[in-house]
Amino acid sequence: MLGSGSKGNCTAVWTENTVLLIDAGKLALRYIRSTLAQAGLSASAVESVLVTHCHTDHLSDTTYRLCGPEKIPVYCTDATWEAALKKRSNRRLEELEKLKLRRCLPDREFRVGEFTVKPFGVSHSHRFSKDTPVGYTLRANGVKVAYATDLGHVTPSIERELAGSDILVIESNHDVQMERDSGRHKDAIEWVLGKTGHLSNEQCAGALSNVIARSERPPRHIVLAHLSQECNLPGLAISASKRSLDVADLAHVNLITASQSRPTPVITVEA
Ligand SMILES: [Zn+2]
Ligand SMILES: [Zn+2]
Repeated sequence: MLGSGSKGNCTAVWTENTVLLIDAGKLALRYIRSTLAQAGLSASAVESVLVTHCHTDHLSDTTYRLCGPEKIPVYCTDATWEAALKKRSNRRLEELEKLKLRRCLPDREFRVGEFTVKPFGVSHSHRFSKDTPVGYTLRANGVKVAYATDLGHVTPSIERELAGSDILVIESNHDVQMERDSGRHKDAIEWVLGKTGHLSNEQCAGALSNVIARSERPPRHIVLAHLSQECNLPGLAISASKRSLDVADLAHVNLITASQSRPTPVITVEA
């Protein structure tokens, strides 16, 4: 994960032959390029970008500036695309359409290079946007990666999508008390804590327990993502989810947090 949080998101998932990005919003283009290079990847090798939803930390002019010159297709739902184009700060996004690089996200599994990609709907959006946000599972060579950030709440059907992942990326956005004490506008606080906002550390830990209970084999790596910089601390996120792992006798599972400004270590999983 190159960066994760409300100031920008981008995650690279790759096999020997296919490089995919999930989201490419708001982070500096130079940072994305240099961080990919540190992992031995080049932006020109990216096969596609899979976008989760319309918020500018996921889909923005950065997406155009990365994908336009390199001719990288961008997948998102029609509603996500329409909502993103309405933002004045996203003026250059429509150039992706002119370049025929915008792809309508299928509502079922599809192939991109070596990956089988499956989008699934999640509940997360502002009152004013008609977005249809998604999470993703990616499978290749017998390995499954799940990506679910920006979730208002986790339903049993989302738990089923996340079950059986080798690498599970899940949102652990805020500490409820820190959010309540944040001094933000009360509507903003209500949205974050509500059913279409973001997952708290406790909600994340609860979802983790349910996903583990539904999994035939436990995840090997768990990345807690999209942590709020003002209303969370990595230690609080880790300790909430660690309790779920301890209860399930999985204290050995690799549990880390993603950061806004530093990439996570590369996680390698063999089938
Ligand atoms: Zn976000
Ligand atoms: Zn969002």
